[in-house]
Amino acid sequence: MKNARHPLSLYIHIPFCTLKCAYCDFNSYAKLEDLIPPFVEALIAEMRLWSPVVQSRPVPTVFFGGGTPSLTPLPELARIMAALRDCFALEPEAEITLEANPGTVNRDYLRGLADLGVNRISFGVQSFDDGELKALDRIHTAADALRCYRWAREAGFQRVNLDLIYGLPFDSPSASRRAAQGERVMMERWQATLEQAIALGPEHLSLYALTVEEGTKLAHDIERGRAPAPDGDLQAAMYEWSGERLARAGYRQYEISNWCRPGEECRHNLVYWRNGQWLGLGPGAHSHLGRKEEGGRGKEGVTYRFADVYSPRQYIERVRETAAAGIDAGGAAPALLASMRQVTFVDPQPAELQMADTAILALRLNEGLSVDAFARRFGRSPDDVYGAVFAEMTALGLLERAGGHPDGCSGERIRLTDRGRYLANEVFVRLLPDQPL
Ligand code: SF4
Repeated sequence: MKNARHPLSLYIHIPFCTLKCAYCDFNSYAKLEDLIPPFVEALIAEMRLWSPVVQSRPVPTVFFGGGTPSLTPLPELARIMAALRDCFALEPEAEITLEANPGTVNRDYLRGLADLGVNRISFGVQSFDDGELKALDRIHTAADALRCYRWAREAGFQRVNLDLIYGLPFDSPSASRRAAQGERVMMERWQATLEQAIALGPEHLSLYALTVEEGTKLAHDIERGRAPAPDGDLQAAMYEWSGERLARAGYRQYEISNWCRPGEECRHNLVYWRNGQWLGLGPGAHSHLGRKEEGGRGKEGVTYRFADVYSPRQYIERVRETAAAGIDAGGAAPALLASMRQVTFVDPQPAELQMADTAILALRLNEGLSVDAFARRFGRSPDDVYGAVFAEMTALGLLERAGGHPDGCSGERIRLTDRGRYLANEVFVRLLPDQPL
């Protein structure tokens, strides 16, 4: 493969959870912990299949997501980490993040993670209000989250993220009595949660609006009138208040839902938002991989998006079958993908899709879309491709032009305005190709 120096990030999906949370539509499964040992075998086998193809590419970031990666026992994680180092060219300073549920870890576990080389931890705290946590079916309390945070610092973690969810409508007055009083209570609860998070002083905060996903318990409860639907206006007010409060506390917003101390951006997620390349391993893990020709304009080359089968059982079986078949892909990703039984689809990305993804993902970032970088990557100026949409969105006050970025990005940039961040999807849908090619 002609990608010897092009970085490749790794995403590892651990699909197990203790309980399914009311709002969750991630690829996660409760009560399947018995599958963890065979799953780890399959994961390591999948790494060994990929190793000859991507071994020469430096790996700057690894992200263990889920599911609940912190349900993985330390000896199993040690095996995964050893296989990672064996199969891939992890950079010495690679960022290695693991998502942890505060209901699943203790002091020794966190120390063990640090000893294994995990250097960034992301706690799914969601709220510091026990009533809200209960309504979400979270398995932990606010006190658990506070304890975990302290243990993580004691274990030596210098990079901690807290995930929080705003716009939780639980315990509010019924819809018919819904009024300023209920909204004030919800706003005050959210403010108390964010104040508690700020008081802890994490390096990074991710704030997500509660969304109702089809097929979840929450969607079911809302349909039957057992829970109120989230209130978009209230969520917008919470988002606005949070942005101002976090700025005063010294956090810089760098993406629609993410804030950090200077220099503490999640490097792994920046790879996604800059439409870079990563390999996903594990059930349901998606990947973006391909060949990047170096030098010359418009030589992005062919890239592919593909994903592994969602079901953990099928993933284990199919990786076993693939490994048993003894594939010799000759170091080529397309040949390997064609023989991997766990891969459920492979979508080549035509230039139109790559350009749209690059523009949309870049606009999620406060730094926005670099006009020069886009032109270098695709051989066309973004104004040439999207001029009419940019003009329309600028006239509506959703997009703006800016000069160099304080972080050193030079040249003209196109970015969302403050108002545009609330209405980002209005902009994004207009950038999509009419139909996938
Ligand atoms: S812990 Fe996370 S992945 Fe698991 S069910 Fe809850 S929200 Fe979903």
